[in-house]
Amino acid sequence: MVLTYINLSYLLVGVVCGVIISFTIRPKSKAAEKSHQDFLKYVQSINYVIDNETDRAINELTNLVKLNPELIEIYLAIGNLFRIRGELNRALIVHKSLMAKPHIDDKLKREIILAIGTDYDKAGFHQKAADNFKRLVDMDGSDEDAVHLLKESLEKNHEWKEALDVLKNFGLKRKNEEAHILVAIGMEKKVNGDNQSAKSFFKKAIKTDSDCFEAYYELARLEYDEDNKEKSLMLIKKAIEKNHRFVSVVSGFVTEVLKEDYLEFYESILSKFPKSPELIFDLLHHLSNENRLLLAEDLIGSASFEEEEYKKLLYYWKCKIDIIKKNIDSRPVWQFLDNISEKPKFRCEYCGFVQKKVFWKCPQCRKWDTSKVIFN
Ligand SMILES: [Zn+2]
Repeated sequence: MVLTYINLSYLLVGVVCGVIISFTIRPKSKAAEKSHQDFLKYVQSINYVIDNETDRAINELTNLVKLNPELIEIYLAIGNLFRIRGELNRALIVHKSLMAKPHIDDKLKREIILAIGTDYDKAGFHQKAADNFKRLVDMDGSDEDAVHLLKESLEKNHEWKEALDVLKNFGLKRKNEEAHILVAIGMEKKVNGDNQSAKSFFKKAIKTDSDCFEAYYELARLEYDEDNKEKSLMLIKKAIEKNHRFVSVVSGFVTEVLKEDYLEFYESILSKFPKSPELIFDLLHHLSNENRLLLAEDLIGSASFEEEEYKKLLYYWKCKIDIIKKNIDSRPVWQFLDNISEKPKFRCEYCGFVQKKVFWKCPQCRKWDTSKVIFN
């Protein structure tokens, strides 16, 4: 064994476990001597794991688990520590060896399977993770955490139909998630050139959740690709009317379809949501890009906000349009303006993750529909 390979953390793990064991099974008799020997074997087996002597580690741990069922929870914890350190292969060796023990009670068995599934998930083996979480669900379909983990692994593995089945079969009433998964299936159909099938999944998504912005947008794009401009516009309008806060997501598409005739489209939606900062700032962006300065000034003049972030951005637009109008060619001024973000960003309401591109499922906390539009 290469002792230098063992760092302080491992020694700490050994010491902590040693203390636990020495206190719980303190030497008093032959049994105590056996416990002491077992402890030494246990330290040895962990050292095999550390030294990457995989086969020997598995053998030692498997034998120890068979002989010392009372230590199983400690091994479980050691495996979890390896996982926390990012040493997933070692975590898996420890956790999988625990399955060797016969007659494990259901509660402990579930903990071991959960640990193995989580190790695989962290290692990026989502199919294997799903297999383990499925075992948990098969053992107890009422375990909502296990159902969630199973669905999550399937989604990570892009097994959308299976994820949809989990949502439906376990009565998880999350119509918004169902709709996004239907869109994902439709997108796969589109990539494979099956536009008709893609359309039917996007439509199914809208039927499942009539507020699904993503579904309207994807269907609109497909209609546009097939030269159905009117249908496409109708869908985009519907999407914005459902959630005008996400207008920036489709802003480029609107101008791609309508070219310079976008104004009427925006005015029609603004008539329904005249105080929407997202709509106003998005339109200002187009007007400024095309030098339609008088229209921009009118829009700024008619807008009024209570919230500080919108007031600041409106003032920025007022300054910018003024500078363009007066043809002020001052580098410091433009540098200052360039530092201000005209376009909104998207922040997860649950975990605070922020990015410029919209997300329907947070890449950080993996929750659906937590994206909030922000302007700072
Ligand atoms: Zn999040």
